[in-house]
Amino acid sequence: MTTISTSAIDTLRSRLTTAIIYTPGTDGYEESLVRWSDTGRKRAGVVVQPIDPRDIQAALLWAREEDIDIAVKGGGHSTAGTSSSDGGLVIDLSRMNKVTVDCTNNTITAQGGATWKEVDNGGALHNLVTVGGTVNHTGVGGLTLGAGYGWLSGQLGLTIDNLLSVSVVLADGSLVKASATEHPELFWGLRGAGYNFGVAVEFTYQAYERANPVYAGLMAFPPHQLEEVIQLLNGLLAEPDSRAGAMCFFAQAPDGSGPMVIVICFYDGTKEEGQAQFAGFLALEPVLNTVDMIPYATVNTLQNPSATYGDRKAFKGIFFEPPLDPKFVRSIFDDFMAKLKSEPDLKASAIILEFIDMRKICEVPLSATAFASRNSTQNGLLALRWTDASKDLEHRAWAREAQAKWKAELDAQVKGHETGEYVPQYINYAEPGDSVVPNIYGENLARLQRVKSQYDPTNVFNKMHPISVAPSN
Ligand SMILES: Cc1cc2nc3c(=O)[nH]c(=O)nc-3n(C[C@H](O)[C@H](O)[C@H](O)COP(=O)(O)OP(=O)(O)OC[C@H]3O[C@@H](n4cnc5c(N)ncnc54)[C@H](O)[C@@H]3O)c2cc1C
Repeated sequence: MTTISTSAIDTLRSRLTTAIIYTPGTDGYEESLVRWSDTGRKRAGVVVQPIDPRDIQAALLWAREEDIDIAVKGGGHSTAGTSSSDGGLVIDLSRMNKVTVDCTNNTITAQGGATWKEVDNGGALHNLVTVGGTVNHTGVGGLTLGAGYGWLSGQLGLTIDNLLSVSVVLADGSLVKASATEHPELFWGLRGAGYNFGVAVEFTYQAYERANPVYAGLMAFPPHQLEEVIQLLNGLLAEPDSRAGAMCFFAQAPDGSGPMVIVICFYDGTKEEGQAQFAGFLALEPVLNTVDMIPYATVNTLQNPSATYGDRKAFKGIFFEPPLDPKFVRSIFDDFMAKLKSEPDLKASAIILEFIDMRKICEVPLSATAFASRNSTQNGLLALRWTDASKDLEHRAWAREAQAKWKAELDAQVKGHETGEYVPQYINYAEPGDSVVPNIYGENLARLQRVKSQYDPTNVFNKMHPISVAPSN
């Protein structure tokens, strides 16, 4: 790790206007390093918190002159530390979190450091919604640039399918707006491989009128009902309703009473319609049932009590082709719970499986955006959480083994793999270097390499699934 000289910091300071700057030892420096996961925290050489894009431009050009590593922080949820830098510059967008709503055109504009909470709450004031994350303290930045799934994806597609424009500070320091008509190739690349091209300072999303509450909440089931719950979840996708969605969690009950199967239900309709959709789950008589009619913005707070800041975390993407084999899931569940029992420090870990109607997402041609995994494969996460830093390698190694079981199951299910092709998986759930996702950009890679060589030829933005630049002819 190189140390940035005092004179270089003085030069940076002299070029900034309203940005706050933190260096090691100054008040506020330690707080500025905090990330959602302690595994994402690194000791930056300098942290710049701008409120004006001109300061982003100045900081970026300064770092390039000084040949200093550059990281961009949006909501700070990367567990792999991709929004942090060891000794380099962090452009921390957390003060750029304003959201504005245009009720004439039904659009929501969020600055690059906003979280979904600001978007959900800002939209709710005008009965407007868009497709955002299901945990409202995640950043709009990382989630949007990697495509974005939310509860409304069944009806409205991905976050990027509702993205109208992005303003970006590029590697050469210029500020441009990308949309269907301005820098269209850049706009194409930003939708699915977006962390590769610059600092996104503003996103504008299409919004939709939703005045009514939705049917949503948690149901908890004892482990012996696992197979029945999985069959019901399979049923949701066998006869899909775009207004329905579910997430299933394998976790320890917070009161220490043992393993639980938890389902978050979502239905964008009336209580009667929701109850009919989830009738099978209700018939199992869940031991806990909080499902009710609640505002859409509240749905994205349901996971907040378990998705708190702090501790060490690893997020390993797991991908599956429905229907899930209940026998396979039982073996995963039992192994996972045995691991949590033998390693009490992992007690707050979970396996999370998503059940989303993919039809709307798959209506968009693969070539329409850079996002390469529009297919029927569902997304999930092995979300490990622990406190003992000396166990980092061991826990990650175990997570990779568990992840490999899901990959083997998917390989056995997905026919294309027999021909040597690999079905790309969700980029936002893949940690950099994740060996289960060998070709994250799929058939869009060659075009992405061309866009990268035009907009970031020296690979300044290289922390999250960097695209290798196309060799010049
Ligand atoms: C608790 C939790 C819940 C999640 N839920 C969902 C979900 O419901 N749906 C879903 O699709 N995904 C979800 N994810 C995955 C999430 O989309 C990614 O982790 C995302 O990268 C987080 O973005 P961030 O801005 O909070 O994180 P950061 O750590 O700040 O950023 C992640 C990456 O994006 C880059 N980046 C962030 N903002 C910008 C910007 N403005 N300009 C340029 N680069 C930027 C960073 O440099 C970094 O490489 C969830 C993740 C967590 C931890």
